[in-house]
Amino acid sequence: RARLARSNSMLGKGLLALLSSEKIDQDVWDEIEETLLMADLGSEPSQRLVEALQTRVRVEGTDDPVRVKTMLREELLKIVDPTMDRELGLDGEGENPGVVLVVGVNGVGKTTTVGKLARVMVAEDKTLLLGAADTFRAAAADQLETWGGRVGVDTIRSEQEGADPASVAYESAAEAKKRGVDTLMVDTAGRLQNKAGLMDQLGKVKRVVEKVSPVTEVLLVIDATTGQNGMVQAKVFAEVVDITGIVLTKLDGTAKGGIVVAIQNELGVPVKLVGLGEGPDDLAPFDPEGFVDALID
Ligand code: GDP
Repeated sequence: RARLARSNSMLGKGLLALLSSEKIDQDVWDEIEETLLMADLGSEPSQRLVEALQTRVRVEGTDDPVRVKTMLREELLKIVDPTMDRELGLDGEGENPGVVLVVGVNGVGKTTTVGKLARVMVAEDKTLLLGAADTFRAAAADQLETWGGRVGVDTIRSEQEGADPASVAYESAAEAKKRGVDTLMVDTAGRLQNKAGLMDQLGKVKRVVEKVSPVTEVLLVIDATTGQNGMVQAKVFAEVVDITGIVLTKLDGTAKGGIVVAIQNELGVPVKLVGLGEGPDDLAPFDPEGFVDALID
């Protein structure tokens, strides 16, 4: 969180400076909206926030900068919504392992996230298995195997580059059930050149896995540094498969953490985890209050 706070402190300083203006007139409100936009909060939420603040300033009869900042904090929290269920669906039922599908465009940090999450789960004494259904890049399976190996978790993979991702996913699920592990995590390929192809592939992966065991979580991984472009990708995935949670990676590398607000506002799906670096421990549960504080402090 400290790293997040530092990278985002520009927004807080900018806002406080604006709120401290002698008189908060329309120009200042416009600049506040611009500042929110620049932090990647998205146009609809930025506009809505400014309108909410304007109304509250009028109704509450104060434009004291500290007070307005508190209002902003409250309004941001309404969008980020701390009451959303952010628990990961990791557990199956009886003999069925829980299955976590990890989806997203290439390079956003899927494999890394699976590796980090595996580490957390092992530390919590859970048993698991990894499935390398990203068969388009041979290196992806190697990378996954390396992450798993570090914490003593096996990876089911195909030696054949370009193998059918659904068949690897199916075999992983069958093996996970046979071994009686708590959870199977499936890393998928994210080639986004055509939506129909992606839909076919992810849909098939999900269907075949569900013949064996219930899919308990579909995590969409989004790279925070890609800003509004990441938003567009997120929408495509959300149309293709029912997303149950979002992992926002590379928040350490951006001063634009506001993308969290934009994504949740747009998709109505909670951000559950955040990636804060490349190291094995750089994954954290998303903390709405801490996030909003870091964003505007
Ligand atoms: P995939 O193609 O979606 O599986 O992406 P990878 O897991 O291979 O990650 C792509 C690159 O992003 C790698 O160099 C990772 O080390 C890096 N990466 C992943 N998550 C994070 C993060 O939270 N912060 C930073 N700074 N880098 C990350």
